[in-house]
Amino acid sequence: MPSFVYILLGSNQGNAVENLKNAASLIEEKLGNIVQFSSYYQTEAWGNTQQDPFVNQVILVQTNNSPLACLAINLAIEESMGRVRKEKWEPRVIDIDILYYNNELIELPELTVPHPHMANRRFTLIPLAEIAPNLIHPKLGLNSVELLKICPDTLEVEKMIVK
Ligand code: AMP
Repeated sequence: MPSFVYILLGSNQGNAVENLKNAASLIEEKLGNIVQFSSYYQTEAWGNTQQDPFVNQVILVQTNNSPLACLAINLAIEESMGRVRKEKWEPRVIDIDILYYNNELIELPELTVPHPHMANRRFTLIPLAEIAPNLIHPKLGLNSVELLKICPDTLEVEKMIVK
């Protein structure tokens, strides 16, 4: 039985949209079919507003990999795209976060699902609500639209027109 994984992509270095497209084709190649794509959103950098804005997108991937295998594949894609981990809030070529894996709750040292910060971040909830408005957060019991309504974050998130 395939699993369904919601993933947040983010980039704020170089041509961010191009980086997201490259990450998506590597995900198709290594993780599984992408069955839904949100629009691209330009979003103010979280934690360090001196940085360039990010471009974010949420995708839904159908995969036969376990949660930890998905994490390892995503980290390998980040590395192959030149991501160097130094500081927490540094600019990044690509960031790949697992938001949901089916409706599982996972609490391991290296992987927490649902992603622990997703309910506090408009740059995650807005693209997620675009493609999965009624999807229920398995821990909080609220769907994406309801989470967005109570989200305390005020950072700008703007849908991009990309040809
Ligand atoms: P960062 O890219 O700075 O957000 O942190 C990535 C690290 O967070 C990875 O090495 C993972 O071990 C850990 N992590 C924990 N939960 C998740 C998740 N749901 N999605 C992606 N990374 C996660």
